[in-house]
Amino acid sequence: MTFREKTSAPADRSITSGGSRGNGTAKKAVWEYAPSAESTEHIQLRDRYDLFINGKWVKTRKYFPTINPATEEKIAEAAWASKVDVNRAVLAAEKAYNNVWSKTSPKERAKYIFRIARIMQEKAREFAVIETMDGGKPIKESKSVDVPLALAHFFYYAGWADKLKYAFPNQQFSSIGVVGQIIPWNFPLLMAAWKIAPALACGNTVVIKSAETTPLTLYKLAEVFQEAGLPDGVVNILSGAGDTGAAIVNHPKVKKIAFTGSTEVGKLIMRSVAGTSKKLTMELGGKAANIIMEDAPIDQAIEGIINGIYFNQGHVCCAGSRLFVQESIKQIVVKKLKHRLKSLRVGDPLDKNTDVGAINSKMQLKKITELVNSGVDEGCTLYQPECRLPDKGFWFKPSFFTNVAQSNRIAQEEIFGPVLSVLTFRTPKEAIEKANNTQYGLSAGIWTDKGSKIFKMVGAIKAGVVWSNTYNKFNPASPFGGYKESGFGREGGLQGLKEYLNF
Ligand code: ADP
Repeated sequence: MTFREKTSAPADRSITSGGSRGNGTAKKAVWEYAPSAESTEHIQLRDRYDLFINGKWVKTRKYFPTINPATEEKIAEAAWASKVDVNRAVLAAEKAYNNVWSKTSPKERAKYIFRIARIMQEKAREFAVIETMDGGKPIKESKSVDVPLALAHFFYYAGWADKLKYAFPNQQFSSIGVVGQIIPWNFPLLMAAWKIAPALACGNTVVIKSAETTPLTLYKLAEVFQEAGLPDGVVNILSGAGDTGAAIVNHPKVKKIAFTGSTEVGKLIMRSVAGTSKKLTMELGGKAANIIMEDAPIDQAIEGIINGIYFNQGHVCCAGSRLFVQESIKQIVVKKLKHRLKSLRVGDPLDKNTDVGAINSKMQLKKITELVNSGVDEGCTLYQPECRLPDKGFWFKPSFFTNVAQSNRIAQEEIFGPVLSVLTFRTPKEAIEKANNTQYGLSAGIWTDKGSKIFKMVGAIKAGVVWSNTYNKFNPASPFGGYKESGFGREGGLQGLKEYLNF
């Protein structure tokens, strides 16, 4: 990181928050980050992306623009796959399954997946920049989280491809066939990796659809598949909207659906699939409790709270959006949280110093704003640091609410934005009861000095993942998934493999 001493009003696009920028007019020196924009010169993007079906680029009738949410400028156009296109992709996947992939030895499958991982690694910087441009997330996150984790999933599942008999000893199993995968816009490349890598390792072929606002990194991945020489039709990549997703879900030749997205759409898909023999995995919404006990290492916990809710602008299904603080330390936690929020840098996602990037879309910004307004209307106290937001693009200040009741909408509904609700508890029992008082059950965090408390609480909290003294940590070997309305089935680890096999 570079700093420079400033004596005049800042002219750069990057935004500093609160005190660090000062009034910027006097001679008084203020320390300011120098702009540190990631170069976009090395990336290669087409003006228009067709569908990737049977190893070829296939045109369709309708296209839609994909924009950079930080500038509102169009980056490229992407195909909107129709029912006919979906059918074509499914038939290509079926043919590839019957003629090629199901006959490819596990060892050979592993080689392809390793090759994909290695090519992704070579293109890591390009993937990161495109992910940031298309989705609005800070470049430091796409570089250090999205891309490395995505390719780690390919490496991990490549390792399992020829060892399935050891993964599931003494069990009879077989691949499923054509699997349909539908992913959201918050971690496009990573969600694709979570789904494609285990599907291929188990011998299935894939039709996957990206979300409306983020089609680009999946099409980059298509180029990687071509470069890796993956046989035609083994992975087919589509872009489009809900109707494209529904056509995949309802296609009779698709044997399994893996969905990540909203609980609302998850329920729709479950209704469509009911009565068929299709397998399902659902990774849906969340409203995680991040619980800070009075004996917790406070400064570490503050960082965990920040990472838990402001990472990726809070567009994270496992975000620690409900903070439960033990009453005795509430004042100090809120004070430190305010202080820390002032130092978060909101602005140009391509700047390496940016902590909070752009909101993914206008629609999402509207949803966040509406829920935050409901919090204010219901009498909760909103805190937002002073920071200047860029004129163009979609932005929301990192925010938190105090004076929150469990019944308030902001404590119940998933905001999917950089907004935290602070609640309190007095005893571990009360913390558990409050943490579980939600329709969701995806994740949780517990901060305490006492291992015994961690074990006791982890067992009592109904969430698929519980982090202790950390938050938002991922590893391809760890299963991830929910309880209740957060869905079912697991992704990652051996459990994630199991979802792509018939037993
Ligand atoms: P979010 O609220 O995160 O945008 P959605 O559940 O709306 O999540 O979208 C997640 C994914 O589901 C996207 O790829 C979207 O296009 C797809 N989708 C939306 N509606 C349907 C549907 N009826 N059937 C299948 N997929 C759908």
